[in-house]
Amino acid sequence: MNQIPPQFDVIVVGSGAAGLYACLCLPEHLQVGLITKDTLKIGASDWAQGGIAAAIDPRDSPKLHFADTIKAGAGICDSTAVDFLVKNAGSAIASLVKMGVAFDRKGDKLAMTLEAAHSRPRVLHAADTTGRAIVSTLTAKVLARPNIQIFSEALALSLWLDRGRTSCRGISVLYQNQIHWIGAGAVILATGGGGQVFAQTTNPPVSTGDGVALAWRAGAMLRDLEFFQFHPTALTKIGAPRFLISEAVRGEGAHLVDETGDRFAFKYHPKGELAPRDVVSRAIFTHLQKTAPDPSKVNVYLDLRPIAPDRIRYRFPNIIQVCQQFGIDVFSELIPVAPAAHYWMGGVAVDTKNLTSIDRLYAIGETASTGVHGANRLASNSLLECIVFAAQLSKVKVEAIASEDLPIINYGGSWDEEFKQILMVRQELPLLVWRSAGICRTALGMNKAIDLIQSWRKEFANFETVRIILNQSGDRNLKFSSPDAEKQLRLCSETINLLDIAYLILKSAVFRTESRGGHYRTDYSQTSADWQVHTLIAGDCWRKSNLES
Ligand SMILES: Cc1cc2nc3c(=O)[nH]c(=O)nc-3n(C[C@H](O)[C@H](O)[C@H](O)COP(=O)(O)OP(=O)(O)OC[C@H]3O[C@@H](n4cnc5c(N)ncnc54)[C@H](O)[C@@H]3O)c2cc1C
Repeated sequence: MNQIPPQFDVIVVGSGAAGLYACLCLPEHLQVGLITKDTLKIGASDWAQGGIAAAIDPRDSPKLHFADTIKAGAGICDSTAVDFLVKNAGSAIASLVKMGVAFDRKGDKLAMTLEAAHSRPRVLHAADTTGRAIVSTLTAKVLARPNIQIFSEALALSLWLDRGRTSCRGISVLYQNQIHWIGAGAVILATGGGGQVFAQTTNPPVSTGDGVALAWRAGAMLRDLEFFQFHPTALTKIGAPRFLISEAVRGEGAHLVDETGDRFAFKYHPKGELAPRDVVSRAIFTHLQKTAPDPSKVNVYLDLRPIAPDRIRYRFPNIIQVCQQFGIDVFSELIPVAPAAHYWMGGVAVDTKNLTSIDRLYAIGETASTGVHGANRLASNSLLECIVFAAQLSKVKVEAIASEDLPIINYGGSWDEEFKQILMVRQELPLLVWRSAGICRTALGMNKAIDLIQSWRKEFANFETVRIILNQSGDRNLKFSSPDAEKQLRLCSETINLLDIAYLILKSAVFRTESRGGHYRTDYSQTSADWQVHTLIAGDCWRKSNLES
């Protein structure tokens, strides 16, 4: 059994591409604790298919990559952050290749494909399991590093702040039926996205927005939470998960068709199925709305037959296999697809050094809002963001903090009644958020949802489980004797995080009275110059920012 020490120099929470790469970039003299709530490789990074963008071809340039990113971001990218991203893409790829990531090659050169809204083929890939190739390589490197201790099945519950609440001094973690308070000179949140707050999502079960919720409750500044990207083509088959059918499939020539075989996407945008994701998602939603009373219950299709079979076999072995598993032969049959929540552009506001508004607290990867994605992410820029920004942590300065010897307190702990209610909310909440804050939003629907969410949050505030997680009971380092305690506390922790992020997304979406990028309101369907700003949240205060802040 792996004992958690009371203190590290640095704690990294999350073992996706961002967390793993950060661990490897941190100076080797630092003692690093890597805390991850499932097994090491579980996360969105491992599921990433399409690839990682980098303008490294001689016919391409960081300038063009910059322009495409800014255009996709619909007017609110942070240009300094985008410039940093595209200029450092080449060195990020070189570092991954040097570590051993086996990207596909064409001859002796790295192979590159075109994806929607990119003006050049610049997406590097490893078949259709690019994320797995990156995560496996990084995991092997992390496991070989003596200064990194890994704690799997360890759930970060809350942040530990100093008395003035301006500086982070550690975290509390649920691990092996005990809550541990661990001190650290720096805490890095790399907990990924929050797609599980929506009933239809391509995200893995671990994507419950924990880092954003923890940071918010600690008082950190959040940014642009209303911007969620809905991927147009998730597999829609009864009994199957919303498995992503990568954009690269359309990039390679697949057609998006309706029930009658019509390539309807051209009716909504001149680029048809290769228009930006939000446009294609809305086109599907609108098209289905015309034919079905509840568009969330029907689907359109992807037709891969225009692509040469050999090319399909070479590029999409994983898609072939998963579709086959659910009875679809992609060479002869159409794949039923519909939009699903995919990527959260907003997050914990950070500067280019990943520092949040709280001293010693950093955020990276999908948890962070660096500003590179603006209102809509350009495909394959997120893995790149994980690597480019995590690399900045090689320069992190860590001051030692005084350790505290906290006693372990034995506690009973089984909360069956609370558990039932929490379980009900865990099931109902994603449906509520999908209907009210999904592809098309209105103030009426969102305000109703906020009222219900607030009533749940109020009810939960009195639960003992919640008080323990939020450390309102005053006792630390609790050890539970009930075997159910860990399971119940885990569900409770993820559910309160989901409730918090649902509240934050909805309030932000009501606050922004326009449509832009991934945020579309039927009651404010136009983009407004007055809103070419970020949405900033601190506590319960929402405000507009200047663009670059
Ligand atoms: C199906 C799919 C396909 C995608 N394809 C692409 C693509 O082709 N190209 C691209 O650029 N992007 C793609 N994306 C987006 C991209 O994969 C993610 O944005 C990126 O991988 C996020 O990496 P991350 O390290 O921030 O988070 P993740 O990889 O999600 O890792 C989060 C980690 O945090 C851990 N964690 C979470 N909460 C806690 C907690 N409370 N305590 C402890 N640990 C915790 C999780 O267990 C996990 O280890 C795709 C996303 C999906 C879902």
